[in-house]
Amino acid sequence: MLYVVATPIGNLGDISPRALEVLENCDLIAAEDTRHTQKLLSHFDIKKPLVSYYEHNKVARGPLLIEKLHSGENIALVSDAGTPGISDPGADLIKAATDEGLEVSMIPGPVAGIMALVLSGLPTDKFVFEGFIGTDNKKKQEFADMIIEEMRTVIIYEAPHRLLKTLEFLQQHIGDRRVAVCRELTKTHEEVLRGTATEHISHFTQIEPRGEFVLVIEGADKKTSRSHNEEATADDIFNKFNELSDKYASEGIRRKKNDIIKEVAAFFNIPKNQAYDMYETVNQQTQGGL
Ligand code: SAM
Repeated sequence: MLYVVATPIGNLGDISPRALEVLENCDLIAAEDTRHTQKLLSHFDIKKPLVSYYEHNKVARGPLLIEKLHSGENIALVSDAGTPGISDPGADLIKAATDEGLEVSMIPGPVAGIMALVLSGLPTDKFVFEGFIGTDNKKKQEFADMIIEEMRTVIIYEAPHRLLKTLEFLQQHIGDRRVAVCRELTKTHEEVLRGTATEHISHFTQIEPRGEFVLVIEGADKKTSRSHNEEATADDIFNKFNELSDKYASEGIRRKKNDIIKEVAAFFNIPKNQAYDMYETVNQQTQGGL
């Protein structure tokens, strides 16, 4: 039997009695990082053989583990943190085992993305999990095309050194939608910051992002969907620009005209140049009339 065992995402108190029971009684533990998991096992005084199963050995190691499962061994699969299979290589072993008709059971537990979703205060009835958006330009563009229109809450994982870049990327594509930045969940420095991408950028420009992060992004509302936006008029663009300018001024946030235009374009889901031209048309008329 393959046991998929969720482990804590920070606070060791979150390990479940069932997880400990399976780890104590299995024949072998397949771990993403054996040194990391050894610390967890030592903490709970569990002595078990460990093998590594991670991104760069999964192709070779997977069939060996499947062979052991066929011969009747009980293997516990654990990742560095949280639930194996969620944004980690565990998913491939689970698929291989199910493809082979092997029995798979699970000891459920923490998932960083779900904890962040619940704490975000954003709608939880419908949501999308996107994992890491990564650095590949084509994939980022696909993500951008999706998020502009996605009406469900979107959950993503991000590394601290990429947090600011991702917030800037989001700012360009989601305008002033709400984003919850969830940091170091279940750990001493747990923090949930709720605001817009712009507000988070100004925060993390002053305070270096440290630790582990999940971002939970509010879905688009109906009025920002593509079909509606095709109807956006130059007045709509002009008014939205002024609304955002006033908002930033009242919050004491300095933003360049071009950045606000980008945000307006994202809000109405139209190209930036088009938003700029539409804004200028009304702006010049307004100034001409003064
Ligand atoms: N399997 C894990 C789960 O169930 O959530 C996720 C594994 S993924 C390789 C690791 C990423 O999850 C981190 O880079 C971070 O984005 C997120 N993460 C894990 N633990 C976290 C925590 N305590 N607080 C915030 N984010 C966390």
